[in-house]
Amino acid sequence: MIKTDIIIVGAGPCGLFTVFEAGLLKMRCHFIDSLPIPGGQCAEIYPKKPIYDIPGFPEILAEDLIKNLMKQIEPFKPGFTLGERAESVEKTSDNKFIVTTNKGTQHEAPVIVIAGGLGCFEPRKPKIDNLKYFEGKGIEYIIKDPSLFHDKKIVISGGGDSALDWAIYFSKCAKEVTLVHRRSTFRGHLDSVETINKLANQGKVNLITESEVFNVEGDGNIQSVSIKSANDQVMNLKTDYWFPLFGLTPKLGPIQNWGLHLEKNAILVDTLDYSTNIEGIYAIGDVNTYPGKLKLILCGFHEASIMAQSAFNRVFPDQKKIFKYTTVMGGVKGF
Ligand code: FAD
Repeated sequence: MIKTDIIIVGAGPCGLFTVFEAGLLKMRCHFIDSLPIPGGQCAEIYPKKPIYDIPGFPEILAEDLIKNLMKQIEPFKPGFTLGERAESVEKTSDNKFIVTTNKGTQHEAPVIVIAGGLGCFEPRKPKIDNLKYFEGKGIEYIIKDPSLFHDKKIVISGGGDSALDWAIYFSKCAKEVTLVHRRSTFRGHLDSVETINKLANQGKVNLITESEVFNVEGDGNIQSVSIKSANDQVMNLKTDYWFPLFGLTPKLGPIQNWGLHLEKNAILVDTLDYSTNIEGIYAIGDVNTYPGKLKLILCGFHEASIMAQSAFNRVFPDQKKIFKYTTVMGGVKGF
């Protein structure tokens, strides 16, 4: 049994910053995350994308933000149960919680902070029979490290920002890029659509609209895809990779069975302290909802700081809390 003051479900940016705010109040934290590395969406979906709205950083890559957060919380020595999904919660007779993962690891604490973001997210997959066979062997739904695909032949499917952004990116460094979209118009930013059309005119992106990939062929690894147009014309295209980028479906997963009040797949909280309807369980970051909610990292940071003040009263019911600036405290000392 892992015992701590706060169990944080989700090691995305908002969960990570919670350790800092809790640490200043001498509360220890332990993470549970189903991903094998900390960082949430920043690490899993867009590590190389710049972020422009973190106060004090005019521009920072998502992966660097996570590195910085990890450094900032280092003095507070958080624990990590990674690669395991928080599955169930139960209450103990002395008013604590036990959270058990899908692998049976048990964690006990008086406070739970759910920072589960979009939940366990899964890509929307095209309906093709032998798709599974080529997953990880040429088919990728999330591009974590684009340098792996430099100088390769790439086919991208989709009509949203993700498909457009990656087609633009790979037009500069791949051997060949083809963008396949089933409609003639795109859903992405107008600016990106204009760039794609320009790149297509310059012959830097092979643009195939009103068409869909309907089959994948290969021998172990993907070797080609078959594309069908709206008027049933079929073509076969040799490729090293196919990226079907049709978006991600957020799934709150097992947390939705914990008895929390939910609204549209998110946890309803009281903005006084971001507490849920279950005393001792808080929800911060993308996973929560309240009037005026913005799904932004900086809003989650704010929620973490307010929540920590409230959690203190539950972790140390007999202690008086005194608010101090970190500079007044003589810096961050950790444990
Ligand atoms: P997340 O980052 O979603 O992390 C949640 C973690 O919880 C995940 O690691 C997940 O595995 C884990 N988890 C969930 N359920 C469980 C469970 N049951 N057990 C164990 N682990 C679980 N925001 C900005 O502020 N600026 C931007 O420029 C920006 N750009 C973005 C670009 C893209 C393409 C996307 C998709 C989002 C962008 N966002 C941006 C939004 C930002 O990424 C989110 O607001 C932020 O990641 C929320 O952080 P979080 O810590 O709440 O959750």
